[in-house]
Amino acid sequence: MGALTGRTALVTGGSRGIGRAVAERLGAQGALVAVHYGRDAAAADEVVGSVRAGGGKAFAVRADLSGPEGVAALWEGYDRQVLEHADGAGLDILVNNAGITPRGEIEETTAEAFDAAVAVNMRAPFFLTQQGLKRLHDGGRIINISSGATRIALTDIIAYAMTKGAVDAFTLTLAKTLGPRGITVNAVAPGIIDTDMNATWLRGNEAAQKSAADLSALGRVGRPEDVADVVAFLASDDARWVTGQVIDATGGSQL
Ligand code: NAP
Repeated sequence: MGALTGRTALVTGGSRGIGRAVAERLGAQGALVAVHYGRDAAAADEVVGSVRAGGGKAFAVRADLSGPEGVAALWEGYDRQVLEHADGAGLDILVNNAGITPRGEIEETTAEAFDAAVAVNMRAPFFLTQQGLKRLHDGGRIINISSGATRIALTDIIAYAMTKGAVDAFTLTLAKTLGPRGITVNAVAPGIIDTDMNATWLRGNEAAQKSAADLSALGRVGRPEDVADVVAFLASDDARWVTGQVIDATGGSQL
């Protein structure tokens, strides 16, 4: 029996990168995991298969979070499937992870790119959480994926950094609202992690790998599992007295 047996988790963007590692980690600890994805059904099915191969339980839920109708679609898919897989309805752990990173200095950032980042990184977690509150059990967990870009000035992702600053403010404020229900709300702020999000400039580029590794006090590029382990801690009973916090998981970048 795992530490999360009997609990249900929803991981947005659970089909790839950090979300995948989180879904697999929570599944390995016994949680029933809803693996949300936007477009790539095959990737989500692979994660579901991987959780099941490890003895866990999972199902996939599709919803495009770039538009306002995406949140309702996600909850509709979740509600329908959770009853097939769990003993009851509801949710114990919500991980707001899905995100996009439009690149560009302030002069290069278009209104479309800005709005897209706001929609996926900021509006979707807000309304997903709002509509999830009635499903979330007392004593539950909300874990938002922020970014080290709120602490370190990365000028070529300025719009992205703004959306993650909003996630931090959301985390702090919501923790106060939900404290009386015993629900903790925290964020994890990763540094540079080797995922598809960074593939174009990081993968296969030795110079970029080295400069990314040099940013960290620990001297390497982060892996999805480095973040998933922190999320798993926040999801666990051990983190019951931690709320309203942004946990830096940048491997000590730019200390
Ligand atoms: P990733 O590998 O690019 O994966 C993104 C995930 O989000 C995928 O599952 C994707 O699903 C989903 N997604 C993207 N746009 C969506 C949309 N419009 N609707 C629904 N789902 C959507 O990203 P990652 O690197 O793992 O990043 C995960 C989180 O960590 C993000 O919030 C990111 O900002 C944050 N973060 C990442 C880094 C890093 O260096 N990688 C650093 C700091 C913070 P589909 O593929 O199906 O569309």
